[in-house]
Amino acid sequence: MISASASDNVVVLDRDGTIVIDRGYLADPDRLEFMPGAQEALRWMWERGYRLVVITNQSGVGRGLFSVDHVEAVNARLHAMVEEAGAKLTKIYFCPHAPEANCACRKPNLALMEQAATELKFDPCNSVVVGDKESDVEFGRCAGARTILISSTTLRTSGRSAASLIVPTLLDAARSITRTAGPLL
Ligand SMILES: [Mg+2]
Ligand SMILES: [Zn+2]
Repeated sequence: MISASASDNVVVLDRDGTIVIDRGYLADPDRLEFMPGAQEALRWMWERGYRLVVITNQSGVGRGLFSVDHVEAVNARLHAMVEEAGAKLTKIYFCPHAPEANCACRKPNLALMEQAATELKFDPCNSVVVGDKESDVEFGRCAGARTILISSTTLRTSGRSAASLIVPTLLDAARSITRTAGPLL
């Protein structure tokens, strides 16, 4: 396993169900609400020098439920909320396509990871991917990253995940990330 490089320290986070409560096709910034522990988690990592990058699937656009403008309004509000929490999101990337479009940017496909890595100059192999779905784990594994699944007790005890680590909250994930210089666990 590859050790984290001190110069990289990038955490690639899912948005819905990971940082904020998953409302299902969220189009209204007023309905953004942090997941329990998320503010502290983001601040914890930010204060320790981690860059926080969000990659999110927003298929509501491709399904005709809302527009790219809605996604951008929600993301702008999230940037502000995270700054109020004492942290900073380096950038939010999103895929607007429906699954049927078979695009290259919908997770677990890697186009947005590749774009982020190029723009922000990091090696995905040295990053940690955090999400609440197995597709996030697959995305991270495809990128060669370490993976953390935020999950309920049920899934944690079932053990049916390919994640490097499964934890109940983003705060647990944050503490694991900053505790380990190299491999998780
Ligand atoms: Mg999610
Ligand atoms: Zn896409």
